[in-house]
Amino acid sequence: MWQVTGQDKILDLLGNSLKQDNTAHAYLLVGPPHTGKKTLAINLAQALNCDDPEPPCGQCHHCRRIAAGKHADVSYTAPGLNLSTKTEIGIDDIKDLQRMANLPPYEGKCKVFIIDEAEYLSTEAANCLLKILEEPPPKIVWILLTAEESRLLPTIISRCQRLELKPVPAEQIQKMLTDSHGIDSAKAKLLARLCHGCPGWALSALVDDNLLQQRSQNIDRLSSLLDASLEQRFAYAQELATLFSKDRRSAREIMDTWLTWWHDLMLIKGGYGEGTTNVDYEATLRKQAMELTLNQIKEFIVNLCQTAKAISQNVNARLALESLMLNLPAKSKISARALKG
Ligand SMILES: [Zn+2]
Repeated sequence: MWQVTGQDKILDLLGNSLKQDNTAHAYLLVGPPHTGKKTLAINLAQALNCDDPEPPCGQCHHCRRIAAGKHADVSYTAPGLNLSTKTEIGIDDIKDLQRMANLPPYEGKCKVFIIDEAEYLSTEAANCLLKILEEPPPKIVWILLTAEESRLLPTIISRCQRLELKPVPAEQIQKMLTDSHGIDSAKAKLLARLCHGCPGWALSALVDDNLLQQRSQNIDRLSSLLDASLEQRFAYAQELATLFSKDRRSAREIMDTWLTWWHDLMLIKGGYGEGTTNVDYEATLRKQAMELTLNQIKEFIVNLCQTAKAISQNVNARLALESLMLNLPAKSKISARALKG
C-alpha cells in the first residue's frame, strides 16, 4: 500500500504505469521539503520489485527489505552522507552508482537508484548522470528528488518524467494523524496547521520534540527583530546567510517560518484570524498586527518572497538578507503609521 498522503493523482498515474508495465526509466519528484518525496520514492522502489499483484504490498520480502534500507537492488544517495563530499553529491558518488547500474539486479526485478536533494549534484556529477540518463540500461529506474528544481540542469529535467507533489490540505493531514497514528484531535489540528501542507514534518514532529522546540526558537528570534536595532538585524542576516552555506535545508525552513509568521499577521490584520498557522502564538501575533499597517505587512511579504526566490537562484544570501532586514518595518516608524492606517 502506498504510504503517501494527499497525492492521489500521482499514485493513480504510477499505479497505471505499473499495471501496464510502462514505467519511465527516470522520475523527478519535485515538491517542498516533507511533502512525501522520499516516502513516494521508496514506495515506487517497492512497487517495482514487489511480489504481490497489488504492489507495493509492504509485506513481501522485497517490500520489507526496501523499507529497512537493506535491499541489494535499491540504493539511496543524498548529500552529506559521504564525509569527503559533505555539501554536494560528487562525481565519485555518481560513478559508484554507474558501476552498480552496470550489473544486473541481484535479488529483485529492478534496480532503483534514489538521489535525494538532487539540486546538490556537482556540475561534474550532474553531467555524468546526464550521460547515464541518455542511454538508460534496462531494468533500472532512477528517481531524483528535489525541492529546488531551478538548480537542476534543464537537460536532466527533460530526461525524467516529472511528478510534482503539491502541499496537502490541512484537513487531510489532520485526518491522517488521527486515523492512522491515533493522535488526539487538538494536537493533530496544531501539527496539521504547522506543517503547512507537508505531512512529513507533522510525522517527524510526533517523534522528535526538537522540531517544535527549534520552531519556537526560530519564531522567538524572528518576532523579536521588529524591536531590534539595525545592528542586531544585520547580525541576524549574517547568521542566516552562514546557515544557507552550511545547511541550506534548515535555512530554508527558517525562511518558511518567516513567511507563515507574516502571512498570519496579514490574516489577523485582515480579520481572518481563525485561519492562522501559528495558533500557539496568537497573543504575540495580535500584538504585532496592532502595531503594523496592512500595507507594511503586504510590502514585507513581497520582500520576503523576492528574497527567498533570489537566494534559490544563488544570489549572495548575505546581501539579500541584509536588504530584507532594511525593509523590515522599524519600531519607531511602526506605531505612528499604524495609528494613521
Ligand atoms: Zn510487496
